Amino acid sequence: MEIIKTLEGMKIAQRRRAGQRVGLVPTMGYLHDGHLSLVEKSLSTCDITVVSIFVNPKQFRPNEDLDTYPVDLKRDIKLLEDLGVAILFLPKNADMYPEGYQTYVQVEKITERLCGKSRPGFFRGVATVVLKLFNTVQPDVAFFGEKDRQQLAVIQKMVQDLNLDIQIEGLPIVRDPDGLASSSRNLYLSPQARQSALCLQEALQLAQRRVAAGETSAHKIRSAMQDVIEAHPDTRVDYISVCDPLQFNELEVIQGKTLIALAVHVGQTRLIDNCLIERI
Ligand code: AMP
Repeated sequence: MEIIKTLEGMKIAQRRRAGQRVGLVPTMGYLHDGHLSLVEKSLSTCDITVVSIFVNPKQFRPNEDLDTYPVDLKRDIKLLEDLGVAILFLPKNADMYPEGYQTYVQVEKITERLCGKSRPGFFRGVATVVLKLFNTVQPDVAFFGEKDRQQLAVIQKMVQDLNLDIQIEGLPIVRDPDGLASSSRNLYLSPQARQSALCLQEALQLAQRRVAAGETSAHKIRSAMQDVIEAHPDTRVDYISVCDPLQFNELEVIQGKTLIALAVHVGQTRLIDNCLIERI
């Protein structure tokens, strides 16, 4: 595996690979099975797979976990090498955002809700770094996880609105054996907190069962989910959303394709999860 640490190095690698289908998997590292599912999809559908690891400071607010975000580059390199990844791109902060940097990508309406509402500036940072990665790597296709479904929608909107010639593929949520959605941040959870964290998946499952049994009131679903979460120690709801999966507008009546998404603080750790349901 070639490890490239400069934007110039990436440009040179780009020139070498004319005519080949290039897949990009952008990550912040501390890789887990969710990341690896994206990598495997790229490996099986592209000629060259580029994985980037960059903990993007522009998507963290001052009170968030930028300084403690988990890092284990040695382990990440081994995992990617074992899978057969061609290029690991490790850009440096000073190259991505040199002094005087002042250009940002702002996707509007769909970033005003859910995670965008509770983390102001988050999607501006995400869209900006992803566009920079796209411009540097120039992939044919880029892979993102549905765990961050709003992020996936933001990237898709950016690609559409800015006429980028890149295919965006969203892949299903990968879960740890206990049902918790795989996340680099799960590392922060103590064994007790991990037990509490299972409330996200429990709340989603309850919602799915209630809707399957005929419940159409979004309010009742939100409130039942809230009860599940509050029954677990050390949890605090950030948001529970029952919304349309394209614009993320909250629904009153559940009909057709519906996204159920939530963010919950478990101790100091903020976790997200979601599921898509269809009521015909
Ligand atoms: P991150 O390193 O958290 O920025 O995630 C990098 C990519 O991996 C994003 O596209 C995420 O949506 C995706 N991802 C993270 N966790 C999971 C998961 N449990 N299942 C599927 N994809 C995931």
